[in-house]
Amino acid sequence: MTGANHESFSPHTTIVAAGRPPRRPGGPLNPPIELASNFHAGGDVEYYREGTALHKSLEEVIGLLEGGTALVYASGIAAANALLDRVPTGGTVVAPRVAYAGIAGRMRELHEAKRIDVTWVDVTDTAAVVAAIPGADLVWLESPTNPMLQVCELDRCLRTAREAGVPSVVDNTFATPLRQRPLELGADYVLHSATKSLAGHSDLLMGAVVCASAKEAADLAYRRNHLGNTPGALETYLALRGIRTLAVRVDRAESNAQALVPLLESHPSVLTVRYPGFGSMISIDLSDAATADAVCENVQLWTYATSLGGVESLLERRRRWAGESLDVPEGLIRLSVGIEDVDDLWADLSNAL
Ligand SMILES: *Cc1c(COP(=O)(O)O)cnc(C)c1O
Repeated sequence: MTGANHESFSPHTTIVAAGRPPRRPGGPLNPPIELASNFHAGGDVEYYREGTALHKSLEEVIGLLEGGTALVYASGIAAANALLDRVPTGGTVVAPRVAYAGIAGRMRELHEAKRIDVTWVDVTDTAAVVAAIPGADLVWLESPTNPMLQVCELDRCLRTAREAGVPSVVDNTFATPLRQRPLELGADYVLHSATKSLAGHSDLLMGAVVCASAKEAADLAYRRNHLGNTPGALETYLALRGIRTLAVRVDRAESNAQALVPLLESHPSVLTVRYPGFGSMISIDLSDAATADAVCENVQLWTYATSLGGVESLLERRRRWAGESLDVPEGLIRLSVGIEDVDDLWADLSNAL
């Protein structure tokens, strides 16, 4: 939009520089929030549901970061449903057995309604994923997974899907495009809950699909208008404002997490520390649900709340949710590490432990 050559920039620059209105004397640096359902006839946009210039600004930033064409949605789940909507009736989706519970739950509902078939796989078992791919209609991967932080061998699995002609999607919410770019590894689509690290301030819901093919993106944009899951203007503005600081937030939260991991590993109450080596998400196993609940109740700086990827550090025992996979241990606490001072974070957490 600015005319700058973003291909030559570091992602850290693109995050700040992309998605700006054209430079003109007196023009704003940020795209305005337009509160309008409809627009004067004859222009690029006539009805808000089609998507506006503000959406295009955020989509430009996310698309450049992932290396594809982005579309934003009213939530991560709305973006996931937009992809599931394209699976033919009776088609088969290969999906992770233990990953983000909301999407798994939706797939189970569609399976029970005979809308789709689902082949559940362990994403850490590359041979099983690869064996399930031929004949499927969509391969759905998530890595690192929520909340077990399991890592999938994405390049092998995505290459197999590509060779078999099966479209693939990677939920990249935990890694962010600053740590992992699945389209470069052969994925057809990347999914984001932009509610989390991309927007980063726990004040909105937002989803994104990034397509390797611009033609696919145009088709999804057409369907987004028909499904009616276009995000609101205030949310889109706030997500664009939030993403500007993504690089500094991710770096700081990650260095905090990397400082906390060895401290947690040597703590006598912590049985297991699950951390993939990068990013700001850590899961720890405590002996049982009651012990884990007590830790969540006793923190004073950390916040006992669901969700993740915000500037503030959060924790929760995942199995308190009925929809969570039974493969997740009862005493597992998921930590979303924020950007506070790490000594303050450890003092509070070790006190609660
Ligand atoms: C939160 C989350 C989602 C769902 O996104 P919403 O914005 O809450 O609808 C999808 N995938 C992962 C990995 C998530 O953590």
